[in-house]
Amino acid sequence: MAPSRAAVGNYPPDITPAESDQLLFTIKDWSIAHGLAVRPPPALVASEADPLGILATTAPVTLFPSPFPRVCFEQAKSIQKDYNQLYAAIAQDEEFLIGIVQEIIEVDEFIAELWQVHLKVKQEGYTQSLALGLFRSDYMVHQGDDDTTPLIKQVEFNTIASSFGGLSAQTSELHTYLSTHEYPLLEKFPQDESVDLPENMSTKSLASGLRYAFETYIKSSPIHQPCIIFLVQDPERNIFDQRHLQYELQGHQAPIPVFRVPFSEILSQTTIASTSKRQLLYSPPSNPSKTFEAAVVYFRAGYGPGDYPDSKAWQARLQIERSNAIKCPSILTQLAGAKKVQQVLATPKSGEENSILHRFLSSSVANIVDLEKTFTNIYPLDSTPSGLSARKMALDPELCKGYVLKPQREGGGNNIYRSAIPPFLESLPETHWKSYILMEIIDPPPVHNMILRNGAIEKGGVICELGVYGTCLWDANTKEVLHNEGGEGYLLRTKGDKSEEGGVAAGFGSMDSCRLV
Ligand code: ADP
Ligand code: MG
Ligand code: MG
Repeated sequence: MAPSRAAVGNYPPDITPAESDQLLFTIKDWSIAHGLAVRPPPALVASEADPLGILATTAPVTLFPSPFPRVCFEQAKSIQKDYNQLYAAIAQDEEFLIGIVQEIIEVDEFIAELWQVHLKVKQEGYTQSLALGLFRSDYMVHQGDDDTTPLIKQVEFNTIASSFGGLSAQTSELHTYLSTHEYPLLEKFPQDESVDLPENMSTKSLASGLRYAFETYIKSSPIHQPCIIFLVQDPERNIFDQRHLQYELQGHQAPIPVFRVPFSEILSQTTIASTSKRQLLYSPPSNPSKTFEAAVVYFRAGYGPGDYPDSKAWQARLQIERSNAIKCPSILTQLAGAKKVQQVLATPKSGEENSILHRFLSSSVANIVDLEKTFTNIYPLDSTPSGLSARKMALDPELCKGYVLKPQREGGGNNIYRSAIPPFLESLPETHWKSYILMEIIDPPPVHNMILRNGAIEKGGVICELGVYGTCLWDANTKEVLHNEGGEGYLLRTKGDKSEEGGVAAGFGSMDSCRLV
């Protein structure tokens, strides 16, 4: 079913300045009251306005839920468990991963260091075979020229620090609240059955993945004082996103102790027990005489070079990796999320009958064709025949306009777009090109909305990116998937259509929710 043009026609409605003021007034208070908020930028904290760093501000958010094709929403949700299963299998396939990283580590120090940490632990012997993934698969809507049914195309698959689950549940709540209490006052929001705002269980589903891992850990070895560690950046503007998850774990009928440990404090706040199991022990700085055993370490830091300023930081990562705690993610799971892996999955090898997905998934368990439908063209920039022809496209002043160039990095702000690709590549030694991938730009159909950012409203064409969350716990020894959930929670991020990047934290995007059409 194609989206009904009528349903998306005059949307969002035109609103008068008085109506806009009213909405703004409501949203800014609702957001703070419900933790749809971020800390102010560091410049403000450093200034006289907030010397103690106590202020919070409304997260950038759309005034209306953006229209999103129902068929695409359902498609994305329905394949999440298969995607979980796929990435759990990739993370357990060391031979495949070394094949991917071996060329990159020659020129990418960060990936090389990650691989070194894995090798060191492997040599010593991993003590923990369980691994947890809190994943998010990101998509944009792709509409063919012939106006056929829209499809989702995957932007990327995140295996580390997949964020915004906490804020996105709140955003869905906000839009639901407005649709009941505010939009009717404006008398301009369609008040009929076409207003379909899907439930969003993102916070609960991510918390239940962490809880499942925690319970599995303590079942296998009953321990005195178990806890979950959130490994975080410090300072962190997006702290409330993480707090929602923490409060969900603590507010349950069986509360779990959760501690935030800055990545830079791992070595000062944690130790490894001198047992063959190598339990990860944590003593809170506020009460150093007390010791907890970390059952799960949840990474909201450590995904990029910025968190590793020196060799001590790598020692810290090694300390976590060699410990008995269940890592979310392990190093191999983090590497499974590399853009290069996505490219290899999406590039069929000539002459090969079966797609590479058959290496990881049995067709009786997963619907491989449905996963492949979400792939868009992605090319290597190495010296294989397909890499060499991709280099030509990347360097061509016209052809390059349909592509984005991506390094093996996470967290937004790392990509090179369109016409900027040729001069960028030419500025690099050719030996480095192989650590990038070249991806076709997905060009979703036009949508309009209004974004509230820093107290001001921006109006115009927007681009929406849907993320679907999934959680998965597996045992690398038995090859068994112990827990696999997906599709209960989603994220809709929306940016102005003139902006290339869409990360809310990176400052370009805004939180949104889906109005299914
Ligand atoms: P990161 O891991 O840094 O988030 P992404 O691959 O998600 O990297 O790229 C960042 C942003 O760039 C995306 O959120 C999206 O807005 C834009 N982007 C990335 N790939 C594409 C693509 N193929 N088509 C259109 N936009 C893209
Ligand atoms: Mg990413
Ligand atoms: Mg992304």
